[in-house]
Amino acid sequence: MKAFEATELFFQQAANQLDLPNDVRELMLTPKREVQVQVPVALEEDCITTFIGYRVQHDNSRGPMKGGLRFHPAVDLDEVRALASLMTWKTAVVNLPYGGAKGGVTVDPRGLTEKQLEMLTRVFVDQIHDVFGPRTDIPAPDMGTDAHVMAWIRNQWEKYHGFNPACVTGKPVEHFGASGREEATGRGVGILTLKLLGRLGRKPTGTRVAIQGFGNVGSHAAKFLSDADMTVVAVSDISGAYYEEKGLEIHDCLRYIAQHGSLADYKNGAVISNEELLSLDVDVLIPAAIGGVIHEKNVDQIRAPIIIEAANRPIEPDADAKLFEREIIVLPDILANSGGVTVSYFEWAQNLQLYKWNLNRVRQELDHVLSEAFESVWQRSHESQTSLRTAAYMVAIERVHHAKTLAGIL
Ligand code: NAD
Repeated sequence: MKAFEATELFFQQAANQLDLPNDVRELMLTPKREVQVQVPVALEEDCITTFIGYRVQHDNSRGPMKGGLRFHPAVDLDEVRALASLMTWKTAVVNLPYGGAKGGVTVDPRGLTEKQLEMLTRVFVDQIHDVFGPRTDIPAPDMGTDAHVMAWIRNQWEKYHGFNPACVTGKPVEHFGASGREEATGRGVGILTLKLLGRLGRKPTGTRVAIQGFGNVGSHAAKFLSDADMTVVAVSDISGAYYEEKGLEIHDCLRYIAQHGSLADYKNGAVISNEELLSLDVDVLIPAAIGGVIHEKNVDQIRAPIIIEAANRPIEPDADAKLFEREIIVLPDILANSGGVTVSYFEWAQNLQLYKWNLNRVRQELDHVLSEAFESVWQRSHESQTSLRTAAYMVAIERVHHAKTLAGIL
């Protein structure tokens, strides 16, 4: 199923519960603005390579739009549109004063030198600088982009509009970035996993976890959960998955990654495939890599009773329905991975005031925001007897709907 179609399906399930009229649904699903631009870059002397870049601004009824920029070969308009709408529901469910957006360039950044990547970033900003900024739409890192790319974005944007570090978040700490932004999504996954276990009456100690993806999100989630006394029995990256029945030594995995750049040839765990990791007999499964990894063909092999969607869209809708039938609890992406956008919001708020919080404050406020969001979704799911996903969408849609009504749009 195409990305936007899948996101729309989840929206419709919640809209049905809310009895939302069709004209309102159409308005809420239709992006406010979609921009597609050419990004010509002289990768080699005397030869221009033309990339395609996108920025989709989905909704701004609750505040300026917010969402990452992805540099990846699979980026296309449909995917960016789906991810932009996910950001609207994500910022609404966490109750941040934002709408949703997303952008990207169809490119494999691993094939570029640092200088070429910088040129590409700057040309992309040249093309879209007038549609984003601190009060309209604030980009952030996503797959294939990082704090360094955000520093180039800020620098290029400020050439047109003057000093304003709030034009982009996820910047390096030395460039008005927030302490704790890098760990925020994985830490948020950890915080929310503990909240869910608590509500289910389970203790973290000894809870067995498998995590697919050991990049920014997966590695910080693994660290947080193993520090919370949970047993992380498997982690993986693109090179494969690594399993240890008694629990992996996560700090050793982190050291290995820091030295080697990937988990390839990691020796302190048995090698299994990424597919086998998904079907391990664990208490909690955390897909933290890419979208669509749990689908109709492998859903019956899933044995974990709890899935935390750290990645965006890791479960296809048909598989989601089967998991619900089997009473497997899924903490949906729009809530589970919202720690990153929450700390991005803290960064933006600090930038607007030119004031800096310390790491302790960032962590405390993150815990507070995510706890409130979790409780509102948990309660909603019990009141309405729905999955946590449908409940999360219901909370988000109601907030956006209310904002539109108050503004006189509806
Ligand atoms: P990342 O690039 O840092 O890490 C991705 C990890 O997944 C790497 O370990 C990579 O080797 C692994 N991987 C890639 N393809 C794989 C495959 N086919 N099978 C198994 N593993 C594979 O990315 P990230 O920032 O950690 O993001 C991971 C997911 O979380 C993405 O879906 C992203 O959209 C989502 N997300 C990230 C953030 C954030 O703040 N970084 C916020 C919200 C959502």
